[in-house]
Amino acid sequence: MTSLAIHGGPKAVTRTFKRANPIGKEEVEAATQVIQSGTLSQFLGSWGPDFYGGPKVQEFERACESYFGVRHAVSVNSWTSGLIAAVGALGIEPGDEVIVTPWTMCASATAILHWNAIPVFADIEPDTFCIDPASVEANISSRTRAIMSVDIFGQSADMDALRRIAERHDLKIISDSAQAPSARYHGRPAGTLAHIGGFSLNYHKHIHTGEGGILVTNDDHLADRMHLIRNHAEAVVGAKGVTDLSNMVGYNFRLGEIEAAMGIEQLKKLAGIVACRRESARRLTEGLEGLRGLRTPVVRSRCDHVFYMYPMVVDTAVVGVGRGRIIEALEAEGVVGLTAGYVLTHLLPMYQERIAFGSRGFPWTSDLCTRDAKYDRGICPVAEELHESSYLGYEICLHELDSDDCAELVAAFRKVWAHLDAL
Ligand SMILES: *Cc1c(COP(=O)(O)O)cnc(C)c1O
Repeated sequence: MTSLAIHGGPKAVTRTFKRANPIGKEEVEAATQVIQSGTLSQFLGSWGPDFYGGPKVQEFERACESYFGVRHAVSVNSWTSGLIAAVGALGIEPGDEVIVTPWTMCASATAILHWNAIPVFADIEPDTFCIDPASVEANISSRTRAIMSVDIFGQSADMDALRRIAERHDLKIISDSAQAPSARYHGRPAGTLAHIGGFSLNYHKHIHTGEGGILVTNDDHLADRMHLIRNHAEAVVGAKGVTDLSNMVGYNFRLGEIEAAMGIEQLKKLAGIVACRRESARRLTEGLEGLRGLRTPVVRSRCDHVFYMYPMVVDTAVVGVGRGRIIEALEAEGVVGLTAGYVLTHLLPMYQERIAFGSRGFPWTSDLCTRDAKYDRGICPVAEELHESSYLGYEICLHELDSDDCAELVAAFRKVWAHLDAL
């Protein structure tokens, strides 16, 4: 058998994979038409017809409502903006606690802090990497108001369990489905089983508009509040006759007409993109079966995973080689897009030093914050272990993989596994 590339042998991956790029002539045409119209945005930050934006923004929102089967879709200029609008719309108060997973892009938790509320981190499930309902329940206090769950890597969190907990404790749920548009939980679209959910449209998600996001909800009142926060709430509430002024602090989170026009075209491609991604994942899982100590993605029963990431776990005790060395060997074989671990939000300096707004520890040092919030290493042992030693991600979103590409990826893994003793 040929020797490993890391030892001077030939690479297992010889093909050049096609970079994933969902943008095509349809988007070029749609964007060009908007540019030629001269109206690149039609929002006005005052109460009137243009409060809801221009024709493309509204057309895109109606298309999202029909695609995701929800009463309201509200477009925003990023999903980070969307998360901030969602937390504000729920009426979260300074010092309130929101339970969130640490195994996510930083913005999930930062959105909570933006309203001077306190992120409380619950641990994750070892097989799906989603927030663990048992850990959520263990972290509930009298100040807990909401749960922020994340459909990480393209698979829904355990919404039945989270909804039961939310009902028991009178909590709201926000679903950060940035990585999971078109994923399904018991037949229903991810993001739509929470009070508010939504998706990112940044450039490396399944579909994109450069930057952008979509909020979804079935609640008329919450939709109203999200529209207000998106577009200068404080200047609009008077004329609109809004009397509940809590969190009616507005932003400019408005999506442009060019992005919305591209979003309309992107949405038409989403199902096809997801189908390709799932097919690539299926090929990888089939090909990697039986490699000792390597766990391929676990898909929750009655759920559809859309594979933003292809998440694996290496049992280093069984494999007998550390994760770092395995990655070096695979990269030498030509595998691009492997990641060791993932973000562990609670270990970021902001939480470790408890310095967010100003320099004196606000909001944690404020009288409004009644919890001695713990962000120490050790609060989320499952996430920390995966991060430090056993999680191995493959960025399946980077390329459009055909069956030959998948076969070469599988060959690279099989070759490295056949030579584990030599590592
Ligand atoms: C991408 C992402 C975000 C942020 O979305 P943006 O559109 O980049 O602001 C938030 N949460 C998760 C889980 C993400 O993957």
